[in-house]
Amino acid sequence: CGIMGYIGNKEAKSILIDGLRKLEYRGYDSAGIAVCDGSSIAICKAKGRIDVLERQAETTSLPGAVGIGHTRWATHGRPSDENSHPHNDQSGKFVVVHNGIIENYLELRQALEERGVVFTSQTDTEVIVHLLAEEYDGDIVSAVQRVTRKIRGAYALGVMTEYEPDKLIAVRLASPLIVGVGKGENFIGSDIPAVLEHTRDVYVLEDGDLAVLTKDSVTVLDIRTNQQIERDLMRIEWDK
Ligand code: GLU
Repeated sequence: CGIMGYIGNKEAKSILIDGLRKLEYRGYDSAGIAVCDGSSIAICKAKGRIDVLERQAETTSLPGAVGIGHTRWATHGRPSDENSHPHNDQSGKFVVVHNGIIENYLELRQALEERGVVFTSQTDTEVIVHLLAEEYDGDIVSAVQRVTRKIRGAYALGVMTEYEPDKLIAVRLASPLIVGVGKGENFIGSDIPAVLEHTRDVYVLEDGDLAVLTKDSVTVLDIRTNQQIERDLMRIEWDK
């Protein structure tokens, strides 16, 4: 399973798909990407190999220089197109990719359904994006922070919203996640090889880290205290 994210000036689609290929060694049953063109988000996802996603992406309009991609190793809900990530909320304005498991998803799902939310997948992940939409009040960082107080389990998350198309959010708790730092572009990856083609400067996120990426900046916050953290920028000398 894997996560790849991009924010910069280039076409995100092919960067995301190439990054996901570098994470194939981690195993997966489905793959998908979401791209934002500055005002709206388009999603392309499918059960099966990345080749299936790539063929589908060729015939789907996915413009934009911001995006998140995912390879899924199903834990909750069988491998299928609907259960593939990214998942979106009912308005389509928020998207989430997730590696890991949300242990309390059933009670969260029941409560959301009682509030009228209609689910489109059987995954544990989908609760996250609906909670985000509920919690959002104009600041995606604080919405993500509030959602992480409601979910229990292990997760690496990539989050994007049409409301703040100049930002990508990455969160890590007991699932690996790194940030690649480029010039006028930044990256999220489950592992260093996903970004090595683009940059050798990397932050390895630690548990409880939330990274806010714009194309020109990376800020790491402690998810509980909201304090900024200085992580060491690692220079990768080895090759893929
Ligand atoms: N638990 C999530 C799902 O089944 C994420 C699985 C993964 O780590 O790829 O959709």
